[in-house]
Amino acid sequence: MKKQFAVIGLGRFGSSIVKELVDQGMQVLAVDINEDKVNEFAGIATHAAIADTTDENTLRSLGIRNFDHVIVAIGDNIQSSILTTLMLVEIGVSHITVKAQNDYHEKVLNKIGADKVVHPERDMGIRIAHNIVSKNVLDYLELSDEYSIVELQAGPQVHGKTLIELDVRAAYGCNVMAVKRGDDIHVSPAADEALYTGDVIIVIGADRDITRMELDLF
Ligand code: ATP
Ligand code: ATP
Ligand code: CA
Repeated sequence: MKKQFAVIGLGRFGSSIVKELVDQGMQVLAVDINEDKVNEFAGIATHAAIADTTDENTLRSLGIRNFDHVIVAIGDNIQSSILTTLMLVEIGVSHITVKAQNDYHEKVLNKIGADKVVHPERDMGIRIAHNIVSKNVLDYLELSDEYSIVELQAGPQVHGKTLIELDVRAAYGCNVMAVKRGDDIHVSPAADEALYTGDVIIVIGADRDITRMELDLF
């Protein structure tokens, strides 16, 4: 059976989630308090409903308990976001993801029982900062305060050199998880695999080790 999703709040973030879920073939209920927003989604989402989700009876009447995953994408109205999340937790929705507007909002959402809190503006800001500080960092995924996965673009400095020659693991404590070359991807590359200018290297390691390696080799 197809998974059932509900997205509450059809701002830019919520809209993007609805559209992507629909593109992936999922069943999506799109909800907003604003009639115009809901009308926009009538032809896009599987179902669309006008509702004030801070009202418990309204939420129950949507049958919200039966959804596998509910995403709360009410951004600016922090009070509505918190009340909606609280209702969803009380009703017993199995999986709740909420967008936080700031760090305090995030703390409250975690305390009241959201399963996952996302903070897209902050996280995207961090990523973009990494991208613009180093021209070789294509993408960045924070695993913890200390560890990350980074995509690096290979330049002429490493052209034709193998992982053994570059001594990535021993010298920098980083592991190359994959090498992307054009449309090909080599997962778990062998030690004698050479890198070429333009290759994209996906590296996992401690932030300070990755930075060291980036400065020396890229
Ligand atoms: P984004 O930050 O994702 O771009 P936005 O800034 O355009 O979003 P927000 O004001 O953050 O929009 O709110 C997202 C949506 O949440 C709005 O369309 C708003 O009508 C809806 N919304 C706000 N309060 C409620 C509520 N109580 N019930 C249902 N929907 C609500
Ligand atoms: P190690 O215990 O370091 O893996 P090893 O004897 O197994 O040593 P190889 O696996 O042949 O040696 O690799 C030699 C060196 O090449 C490693 O020490 C490491 O620096 C580098 N290397 C090989 N594969 C990778 C990889 N996927 N990512 C990063 N470095 C690698
Ligand atoms: Ca906003």
